[in-house]
Amino acid sequence: MGAALRHFTATTEQGQVFTVNVERDFRYDPYRGFLVCAHCGWRPSLLTTERIIDMAGEHLASAHGADRGPEQRENESFRKGRLIVLPIVAVVLIGLLFLLKV
Ligand SMILES: [Zn+2]
Repeated sequence: MGAALRHFTATTEQGQVFTVNVERDFRYDPYRGFLVCAHCGWRPSLLTTERIIDMAGEHLASAHGADRGPEQRENESFRKGRLIVLPIVAVVLIGLLFLLKV
């Protein structure tokens, strides 16, 4: 069981959308993501984290005929998590600067 970090989507000529997820298992392998196709169980073994985008696009085009408008987007909850963390970091930094001046 991994957490989906990113979604790659592409559309067929008929307008059907296919998705490949980038998942990561934070308990067992927190530094490596892996690809999982949401439609056919395609799950390639990845030796590096490079070229994930290329692999996802290639699979969507060759296996599902979805070669239009490839798109990459982040998982919504991860994006929100970062939006919450950033202001907290900013407040802590301002607080530190203030303390150092006094
Ligand atoms: Zn597939």
